[in-house]
Amino acid sequence: MTQNAIEIRNLKKTYNLGKEGEVEALKSISLDVKMGSIFGLLGPNGAGKSTLINILAGLVVKSAGDVSIWGFDMDKNPRQARASIGVVPQEINFDPFFPPIKTLEQQAGLYGVPKSERRSMEILEAIGLADKAYAYTRALSGGMKRRLLLAKALVHNPPVLILDEPTAGVDVQLRRQMWDYVRELNARGTTIVLTTHYLEEAQELCDQIAIINHGKLIANEPTQQLLKRIDGKRVIITPKVLVTEVPDLGENIKVGLSEFGNLLVDYAPKQVEIMEIIAKLQNLGIEIKDISTEEAGLEDVFLQLTETG
Ligand code: ADP
Ligand code: MG
Repeated sequence: MTQNAIEIRNLKKTYNLGKEGEVEALKSISLDVKMGSIFGLLGPNGAGKSTLINILAGLVVKSAGDVSIWGFDMDKNPRQARASIGVVPQEINFDPFFPPIKTLEQQAGLYGVPKSERRSMEILEAIGLADKAYAYTRALSGGMKRRLLLAKALVHNPPVLILDEPTAGVDVQLRRQMWDYVRELNARGTTIVLTTHYLEEAQELCDQIAIINHGKLIANEPTQQLLKRIDGKRVIITPKVLVTEVPDLGENIKVGLSEFGNLLVDYAPKQVEIMEIIAKLQNLGIEIKDISTEEAGLEDVFLQLTETG
């Protein structure tokens, strides 16, 4: 058995828009998702994230390439491949008069889960919707509907769970709850793939991150390695005497002024040494009271990688 939960090779998708031509949404993507990992798929709007996920879910037909899920080739063993994943789609789409418990029972039926093995109520409890089990779905808040989508993806107990921007439009507290639950599922052995716009969260949650832009893979590596790869660092300098004007430290050093009077200095460690910054400040008569550094966030990595792409 392979050690990869998902293997994608030279995956292409072209949407045909008739008279308006075509859109190349995925341009030969290859990547592996290791079993047991939390894999983050990042990219700006229109990058191709949902297209990729919908292909895995069997909702969009690929134009070329190979995909295998849990060792099952999508073309040769489509049923086993589909049974191996649960997908939480980006769009919310429920029958408004269908109560959550029925939604889950119906989904379980669709996947051929025997009645004795169904855990609908248990799943609703786990996501905090037990008291809404028999309510009309239209009476649920947006956040509750999102959680119900997650529940729906879990009825057949898939080894791989895929979430397409699950926390878009969800408040901070609920987002935390959802991530805690996702972490718990992962700890119990479920492989997770998620797309998100909350880059900080991806950084916090994912052990591996892939970035796509315009249908192309521009990065795919362990989160820590990706963060190290970026050549950007910020030092925060507190001057002894309040500075009112932003000092000019030359071309490769960007300086900003915080509202507390700190100098925020962004520089590329491969090009500029910290001593050079300190010397330049001293030459300008700025004495340093305190100095601290900040590691680059994923937001910076993302910007740097997509700008050059
Ligand atoms: P993301 O999820 O990263 O925002 P999508 O996969 O939704 O990106 O979209 C990728 C590209 O494919 C975009 O240019 C989008 O307009 C196009 N696209 C997505 N779905 C369809 C569709 N059903 N028909 C035509 N074009 C589509
Ligand atoms: Mg999308």
